[in-house]
Amino acid sequence: MSLIDRKIWFNGNVVNAQEAVVNVLSPTAQFGLNVFEGVRCYFNPETGKTNVFRLDCHLDRLWDSCKIIGIEPSFSKEEIKVAIRDVIEAGAYGGDIALRITFFVYEEGSWQNSSPVGLFIAPIEKKRNLVVLGNGATSCVSSWRRLHDSALPTRVKAGCNYINGRYAHIEAQRSGYDLPIFLDHDGFVSEGAGACLFIVKNGTLITPDLSSSILESITRDTLIKIAQLHSIPVFERKVNRTELYNADEVFLCGSAAELTSILSVDGYAAAGGQLLTKKLSDLYFDLVDAKYSVDAQWLFEI
Ligand code: PMP
Repeated sequence: MSLIDRKIWFNGNVVNAQEAVVNVLSPTAQFGLNVFEGVRCYFNPETGKTNVFRLDCHLDRLWDSCKIIGIEPSFSKEEIKVAIRDVIEAGAYGGDIALRITFFVYEEGSWQNSSPVGLFIAPIEKKRNLVVLGNGATSCVSSWRRLHDSALPTRVKAGCNYINGRYAHIEAQRSGYDLPIFLDHDGFVSEGAGACLFIVKNGTLITPDLSSSILESITRDTLIKIAQLHSIPVFERKVNRTELYNADEVFLCGSAAELTSILSVDGYAAAGGQLLTKKLSDLYFDLVDAKYSVDAQWLFEI
């Protein structure tokens, strides 16, 4: 799809992507002063409807991000829902989509400015990332540490935070790995660069707790609740680096990553393969396709 065909909702109107422009001297362009959400929208060919998965949770987190970074949302949650309908309908996708919803500070000014706040909502076609046995990513523990809550809080989903992930990603790729895994400031396992992390040990799921410098991931929360529903033991706690090396399975999760299988960490192969990862991935897609429900509020169909 070209920029001319791609539709974006921009400050109140659906426009072609090339018309959605900001001043290069604005705080969003110069300093990454924006907060955003990445949301998956799953198309159901049987009903012809699209499920904007856990939209309310994403909007709540977006509001939390605005609060901490010190900007006021310029549109209400209800207005955003109408805008999402409008922009998805304008694109006539007929398949799965990923949405980015971003509040940004857009007039020439410094990083101290808090207004005016704009909003864009950008859909794009995006296929599902299915777990295929035997396929997955290689990873390394990054020598870069995850941002700390006392400096740039990871709980805030701000554009500027992603440069931390960028450094780790560059290092991983230069060393011949697909993806990095961050440790937090205290040396405990934190998250990936743009996704949270689970390990599997003896049939149990373990994931770093919310004070391990992670984003409060909606997918992580979804998987915890899926596991509880299916009587799979799951623990949120501090995780040591060596637990990655001894894990039976390792996977990343996120709205974009969905479940991404990690085949090895620093050359240590995930000993048990990917069986539980695959099972959870199947359960995840059955959930987003509304084949069963954990919480009725997680469905927002358009
Ligand atoms: N951590 C980071 C740094 C992320 O960018 C993301 C993706 N939004 C996640 C974790 C996963 O969060 P979620 O499941 O809410 O998409």
